[in-house]
Amino acid sequence: MPFLGITGHQRILSLLSRAIARGTLPPSLLLAGPSGIGKRRAAVAIAEALNCVQARPAGALEIDACGKCPSCGRIARGVHPDVVVLEPEDSGTIKIDQVRDVIDRANYRPFEGRRRVVILDDADALVIQAQNALLKTLEEPPSASVFVLVSSLPDALLPTVRSRCRPLRFGELTPSEVADTLVRDHRFAEAEARAAAAEAGGSVGRALEARGLDLGEARAAAHRLLQQAARAADPALRLGAARDLVGTGGSGSRERDHLAVRLRALASLLRDLGLLSTRADTRSLANTDLQGDLTRMTGAFDAERCTRAFSACDRALAALERNVGPKVVADWVALQL
Ligand SMILES: [Zn+2]
Repeated sequence: MPFLGITGHQRILSLLSRAIARGTLPPSLLLAGPSGIGKRRAAVAIAEALNCVQARPAGALEIDACGKCPSCGRIARGVHPDVVVLEPEDSGTIKIDQVRDVIDRANYRPFEGRRRVVILDDADALVIQAQNALLKTLEEPPSASVFVLVSSLPDALLPTVRSRCRPLRFGELTPSEVADTLVRDHRFAEAEARAAAAEAGGSVGRALEARGLDLGEARAAAHRLLQQAARAADPALRLGAARDLVGTGGSGSRERDHLAVRLRALASLLRDLGLLSTRADTRSLANTDLQGDLTRMTGAFDAERCTRAFSACDRALAALERNVGPKVVADWVALQL
C-alpha cells in the first residue's frame, strides 16, 4: 500500500517520501512506536516507492508508489523477490540463520527491482547474535539495499544497533483514524469499526486481534490443504479442504480477510517446499518447525509443481483484491495445487 493509503503519521510519511524523491533516504531505518499503528505498512510503502515502475508525486507527497503496477502488487502480496520481510518464528525470535541469509542476499544486485529492501518486523525479537551479525551491514549497507527495522520495543535492541539506524518515531492513532482504517482496509461496517476503535487504544492491530484473525490457525489450515493435495488428486477432497480455508459464519468481508491470511500462509509453505525440493539452502526456510513434514511432501511436490502452485496463490490474492468471491477463489486455488 502506498504512503497515501496509510492513515495518520503524515509528517513522517512526507519526510520519507521527500528523502526517497531526492535520493537521500538513509540506508538503515528504525520505525519505532506502539504496535498495530501502521509501522510495517510504512516499511512496505517505502519498498513500494523505491521499486514502483510508475512512482510519481501524489497529493502533498514528492513521490509515492502507484499501488497498481506489477511491482507494487507483488510487494503488497509479499511475493516480490527483492523485498524480504523477516519476522519472528514460532519460537518468538528472529534467529541468526535468517539474518545471515538476508545479509548474504543483500550483497547481490536486486533481482528485478531497483532497490532491495529488507524489513525486519518486530526487530526487538532478533537474538543477540543476530543483532551483532547485523552491525556491519547496518553501518555500511550494500549500495542497492535498504534495511528497515520495525519495533514497538526499540529499547530492547542493542544500543549499537539503534545508533546505526535513523530513528523515526510513530505515535498512536486517534480513535477516528483507527475506525477509518478498519472501514477502508478491513471492511468493517461503520458501527462495528467505531465500537472496535473505542476499545483499541489507538491501534488498528489491537482491533484486528480482537476480531480473531488467528495467524497460527491460518497456517494450520493452509498446511492441511497442502497435505490433502499431496495425498490425493480427488477434486472432492480438495474442495472440502478449500472450504476449511474460507471458514464459515463470517460476513463477506471477514471471509475475505480470513482467506487472504490463509493464502499468504500457503504461499509461504510453498516457497519452503520449493526450497526443499531443489535442496537449496534451508537456512532461509520460514516454517522451520514443519521442515520434516514438508520434506516428506517433496515426493509429491517437485520444484515445477511448487512454482505453479505458488503463482496460483499470487493470482488468487490478486483476484481477492479485485473482489472476486472468496469461495470461488478458494475452490480455484485448491484445484490448482
Ligand atoms: Zn507501482
